[in-house]
Amino acid sequence: MSQEDKKFETIAVRAQTERSHNREHSVPIYATSSFTFEDADHASALFSDEVEGNIYSRYSNPNNDEFIDKLVQLEGAEAGIATSSGMSAMFLSIASFVKSGDHVVASRSLFGSTHQILTQLLPRWGVSHTYVDFDDLEGFDKAVQPNTKMIFIETPSNPAIDLIDIEALAKIANKHNVILNVDNCFATPYIQNPIALGAHIVTHSATKFIDGQGRVLAGAILGTKEHMNEVKFLSRHTGPALSPFHGWILSKSLETLAVRMDKHCDNALKVAKALEGFPQVQMVKYPFLKSHPQYDLAKKQMRLGGAIVSFEIKGGVEAGKKFWDSLNMISRSSNLGDTRTIATHPASTTHSKLSEEERLSVGITPGLIRISVGLEHLDDIIGDIKQALEA
Ligand SMILES: *Cc1c(COP(=O)(O)O)cnc(C)c1O
Repeated sequence: MSQEDKKFETIAVRAQTERSHNREHSVPIYATSSFTFEDADHASALFSDEVEGNIYSRYSNPNNDEFIDKLVQLEGAEAGIATSSGMSAMFLSIASFVKSGDHVVASRSLFGSTHQILTQLLPRWGVSHTYVDFDDLEGFDKAVQPNTKMIFIETPSNPAIDLIDIEALAKIANKHNVILNVDNCFATPYIQNPIALGAHIVTHSATKFIDGQGRVLAGAILGTKEHMNEVKFLSRHTGPALSPFHGWILSKSLETLAVRMDKHCDNALKVAKALEGFPQVQMVKYPFLKSHPQYDLAKKQMRLGGAIVSFEIKGGVEAGKKFWDSLNMISRSSNLGDTRTIATHPASTTHSKLSEEERLSVGITPGLIRISVGLEHLDDIIGDIKQALEA
């Protein structure tokens, strides 16, 4: 069944691996490492890519294919690949396109491990990078060198919730004939579609909102067939394959992505508005708050504001730690994208190894708290924040 004319929710629910002779309604888990061949000619056709089909689960598996086929359609891509974690997706999506002597331009505010890949690992293989501030489009343009192969960004950024104009950056990437790769983890395909805005590759940590229930690690890379052939080559022969069980879970998760994100975003906007009214709070950052410096851009490239709210508590690091310690229900964790509301204090945890100056350069002020707003009742979420602020 062609899904091309179907709406987001319908694709997420209905795109499905072909039924077996058992006529099952829900797709079974294909817990198999390998697949059999009809005969020698069939095997040779499979190995030479003359026919499509499964050979070995490091290459493809019906559960992972179902998951990735849904994401391909939801992101408006041509092809994609599922991976064992968000980080294997980030790594493959960059490493597939660079060789020794090449260069990558990236936005300065990146997920911690992506930062380590660019600053510690890729230089081992002779790949250099330049960081640019999120709001410096001219800086991105100028940072591109003759050996630049890719511009890599995250928007909204973590944890400062700054945005990058994807459409404008895609024009810059096209002018220089380099790949624009967008980590779309914070927004999910329900809220933002970078490919429709001109990006060439979209990457995901499916561990976050795509699973949305804190159960599995997974990642995804999406783009043109040509680009994904490069990624598949590296992936097939280095092996960061997703478990079929996790592929099955994630395909089920996508069935509820739209309803979950609607509720996450509704709760998050209300939490952000409530935070603006508390005297202990100095500043609140949420894309769909009118006070966000890039509110117009948020409205242009995002369908909803997302589930992540950041705010600055008066009193710096100590006040931030005190608030964090005083939470009763909201989880203290560095993760995000769960049904459970999670609060993080980056200055004393995820970013504590950076200097104060480095922290400030990526928008991490001493009293910054990041909240991944969950699906509990709004009154209980705001109630816990209120009592912790007053503590
Ligand atoms: C979590 C995260 C990653 C890494 O994903 P894992 O699934 O933990 O490997 C990459 N980018 C962003 C923006 C993330 O939030």
